Amino acid sequence: MIAGGLLLVVSAPSGCGKTTIVKRVMDTLPGLVFSVSHTTRSPRPGEVDGVHYHFVDGQTFTAIRGRQPSGFLEWAEVHGNMYGTSVDAVVAKQQAGHDVLLDIDVQGAAQVRQRANPVTIFIAPPSLAELERRLRGRGTESDATVAVRLHNARKEMACVAAYDYLVINDRLVEAVESLRSIIIAERCRHRRAPDGQPARWSV
Ligand code: ADP
Ligand code: 5GP
Repeated sequence: MIAGGLLLVVSAPSGCGKTTIVKRVMDTLPGLVFSVSHTTRSPRPGEVDGVHYHFVDGQTFTAIRGRQPSGFLEWAEVHGNMYGTSVDAVVAKQQAGHDVLLDIDVQGAAQVRQRANPVTIFIAPPSLAELERRLRGRGTESDATVAVRLHNARKEMACVAAYDYLVINDRLVEAVESLRSIIIAERCRHRRAPDGQPARWSV
């Protein structure tokens, strides 16, 4: 459906370290644009509207969802809140040749696979016990939301086989290097340079 740059879909159980990895990759690899999702969840301390998410109420979310096909490319209810990727967050940037990175859950990834041709990457924790340590260590979740996120993690991990790539986030530096390597390899596969520019050569 969409020509131009790559559509990179990254999914992971909550607390696995996906935000940390994606930030490090985006800080060190040029040519990547982050798709800012809409969500009905409340901002966490430090989260900025329009940067981390577009924080909206349920009514606004429903109105955007109704604008088909120009509303959401995909949307889902995740851990009791609504999340969606607007068409605006993706299409123009991809058509302009940028590689667009979507941080979305397994339901959203399945919808994007139906509508586009994404490169999909699943980031997994080394164990559920470590996932719980990280979720609690982040200090952003109540006991109840930790329980919901751990329960959902088991179901999400059953979807790994549908993804093109698996990255285990045990040692952070290695996980960052793996995601960087995947993106660089996909660029080379499309006859582009590692920095995302068109390959320059003369024969
Ligand atoms: P997510 O975006 O997947 O919900 P975060 O990036 O917020 O997860 O990470 C959750 C917590 O785990 C954070 O406190 C982060 O610093 C920590 N973390 C991330 N990767 C690792 C790792 N490889 N080893 C130990 N802690 C990690
Ligand atoms: P969090 O609330 O921790 O930021 O995100 C919770 C989950 O929602 C994560 O798995 C994240 O990938 C997912 N998510 C974030 N934005 C979107 C989106 O636009 N669509 C979908 N389907 N999931 C999203």
